[in-house]
Amino acid sequence: MSKTSLNNKTCTCRHTARCHAKEAGKLFVWFPVEHTLKKVINSLQQCAVKYELIHDKPMLSLDCKIGQAQEIASRVGQLLTPIELKETQVLFIRGTIQPQLQDFSDIASLQQFIKFTQSDWLLEMLEKEKFTSYFQPIVSMKNTSQIYGYEALLRGIDAQGNLIPPAQIIESATEAGLLPQLDRIARLSSIAQFSRHQVSGKVFINFSPTALYDPVSCLRSTVEAINRAGISYERVVFEVVESDTPQDLEHLKAVLKYYRDAGFAIALDDIGSGYSSLNLLHQLRPDLIKLDMELTRNVHLDPYKAAITEKVLEIAQQLNILTVAEGIECIDELNWLRERGATFAQGYLIAKPSPIPVNETLATSSF
Ligand code: C2E
Ligand code: MG
Ligand code: MG
Repeated sequence: MSKTSLNNKTCTCRHTARCHAKEAGKLFVWFPVEHTLKKVINSLQQCAVKYELIHDKPMLSLDCKIGQAQEIASRVGQLLTPIELKETQVLFIRGTIQPQLQDFSDIASLQQFIKFTQSDWLLEMLEKEKFTSYFQPIVSMKNTSQIYGYEALLRGIDAQGNLIPPAQIIESATEAGLLPQLDRIARLSSIAQFSRHQVSGKVFINFSPTALYDPVSCLRSTVEAINRAGISYERVVFEVVESDTPQDLEHLKAVLKYYRDAGFAIALDDIGSGYSSLNLLHQLRPDLIKLDMELTRNVHLDPYKAAITEKVLEIAQQLNILTVAEGIECIDELNWLRERGATFAQGYLIAKPSPIPVNETLATSSF
């Protein structure tokens, strides 16, 4: 599927797979090595599926309906290793024509093809833009009634009107190769809704740098939306998610430079989660860092978390980086972080994410 087609709402090959399961066509499959081809041929022969080998290459094609292509892909997918799934390429062409140059952009990995065909619900959400944003306040540590800003958090809306949490949507979008589309819609939804609520303070917008091919053109729509909403740039903080595993550091630096040059602030999200590296601080030089709730949770009870968090806070203070402690659920966590100089607090203790940004939180004295 061409990556822009969803934005333009045009129908494309893989996209229409959902609508016309009985439509006939041809499935082309390219394998990374002969060995993979042999495994697949064995399986096709066992199921009496007819196929055609192409020019001594590790490649085959077979005539089938789109629905069958999806079934075959799923079955074959179970035989392959994760790397084979990623390296095997697939193209489905409707009708009897041979692939044309313009079909090349529809070639996907077998893994993406399988995930894509299992993502009807996500495609529908993307097409109809069935998303909304919740907002969670980020408050001053010293006085939790002072709201510094709000983090915008994505929520999907399913056909029954139920909310779908972002983790599930993001995981499916990543696997189906739809993260760029999702990330863009999420950014635009955050901006549109934040401006609609007319609250003061900053807006923290999550973004996945791996979802941006080219920072300038991909972010243009975001900047245009911010301009349209009349939000001044110094009120916007972009939170880099997945900062623990940047796939391409130079790319990430270029993206952040673009944001910063335009006047936006940058936060590194989820510091302290997974394998996130403090080395990124000097590489990316953020304005803020957000301490992940993995560190926050019971920081007052766990000497390892306490030692690490203390050091991170100390480094941030030395470098004039503001800190947000995320996921604060109890007063002991809040007090511990406050005593060690964390700048801002975010968490259920203060307020849960809500569709309308709260404009009051409890004062420090209440805790
Ligand atoms: P995150 O950016 O680290 O967001 C904080 C998550 O922690 C949110 O979960 C929030 O609801 C949750 N949280 C806040 N305080 C507490 C607390 O005290 N206790 C607990 N248990 N949880 C708390 P949510 O909304 O489910 O978002 C999960 C993740 O999905 C986010 O983590 C972020 O990585 C991603 N995400 C959310 N919205 C977007 C978006 O618009 N774009 C992108 N790229 N990613 C997003
Ligand atoms: Mg975040
Ligand atoms: Mg976070």
